[in-house]
This record gives sequence, C-alpha cells and structure tokens, in this order.
Amino acid sequence: MPLTIAIDGPVGAGKSTISDEVARKLGILHLDTGAMYRAFGLCALEHGLDLHDESSVSALCGQDEARVSVRYENGTQQTLLNGRDVSSLIRTQEVGMAASTVSKYREVRRIMVQRQQEMAKEQPMLLDGRDIGTVVLPDATVKIYLTATPEARAQRRMLQLREKGDNTSFEEILKEVNARDYQDMHREVTPLRQAEDAVLVDSSDLTFDETVQAIFSLVEAKQ
Ligand code: C5P
Repeated sequence: MPLTIAIDGPVGAGKSTISDEVARKLGILHLDTGAMYRAFGLCALEHGLDLHDESSVSALCGQDEARVSVRYENGTQQTLLNGRDVSSLIRTQEVGMAASTVSKYREVRRIMVQRQQEMAKEQPMLLDGRDIGTVVLPDATVKIYLTATPEARAQRRMLQLREKGDNTSFEEILKEVNARDYQDMHREVTPLRQAEDAVLVDSSDLTFDETVQAIFSLVEAKQ
C-alpha cells in the first residue's frame, strides 16, 4: 500500500494549508476532501435544491452533472464540477455551510468516500478532512487530529477572509465556526471525531511552521 497520511480536524484548524506544506515537503499529493463536499454543495445550491431535503440532494449526487473530480497542476489541486474548475467559487462561507449540510447524507458520503479511496490507492497521498482516519483510510500510515480552540480558529479564518476583502466580524465568524463544529460533530453518519490511533496536535499556540514541523516529525518517525 502506498504511503497514506490522514489529517482530520474541525473547521479552521489550518488543515488545508498545513497539509499542503507537509505534502510538499514529502513530495506527495495532497487531497483536500472538504473541497469535494464544497463542490457538491455548490452544485446543489446552483440547482436551487432545498439542502435539507435528503432525497433530492442524494439523487443529484449520483448524476453526471454533479460529478466532482480533482486534477493536479504543478502539484496543486483543482476541484472540478462536471469538468468545470470551481476551485475559487467554493471558497465562500455560504458554500462551506452548504457543504456541511449535504455532507450529512449517507449517499453523498458513500460516493465521495469511494472516490477518495480510489485516488489514495493509486499513489502516496496526504488526505485531509473529517473522516479520513476513521472511515476513508482506516489503515493510514500516519493519522493526525489537528485542532485549536474555536477562538484561535475564528481568528485565523478572519485574517484569511480579510485578505480576500471580506470584512465579516469576528463574532459572526466565531458563531459560524461553532455552528459548523456542532453540525460536523453531531451528524448521524460518521460525525467528526478523533480516530483512536490518531495523534492529537493542538495548534492554538503554535505558529504555522511549528505545526508543519510537528506533523512532519510524526510522519518521519513512522517511516
Ligand atoms: O474542510 P472544509 O471546511 O472545506 O469542508 C467543508 C465541509 O465538508 C465540512 O464542514 C464538513 O461538513 C464536510 N466534510 C466532511 N468530510 C470530509 C471533509 C469535509 O464531512 N472528509
């Protein structure tokens, strides 16, 4: 089995950027699985579906027009919806919340998990998400649960949004972080939780470089 690294954790823990850097240092691909749920969430929004209607959302998920795929350009992931590059469109709060809602459904998860497992079979990969260590790659070489306090995560999210010219207040972002945590941790199908054999990394008081180094050292120790 190729090298597989599973990084799970709540929203805003820095999983994506940290994972990008760890994967780059290791010379392997990084699959951001949240981007896949976001692309499908965007698709459901574009179709004007009631996201709380499980049967219509599940029915859409199996259709060609909702096909989510991923390709890499110079090692960077591009997320495609029926062949259309939606990598930028999916980075809004609205799409994030839609992803959190549609990812509750069993059929949606079944389809996404299957695609992720197929990709990880092909080559050494680092996957980040909510259920990688528990469901997608239960035999991953290294499992990490990356977290930070809700306040630290909201603060980072705010800085990211500011860079894009989005001035949403800290209070509003913190509320959204808490709402998404609740939704992700309390859903019926594979809720977010730390795998028993995952190592906890709390990045609340760590810099970006320190967090990357902590994870990199864990991977090196396993290899
Ligand atoms: O990681 P990101 O915030 O982009 O993910 C968007 C949403 O997709 C999460 O809030 C979560 O509900 C869902 N997700 C999931 N399983 C994954 C990755 C993301 O349920 N493996």
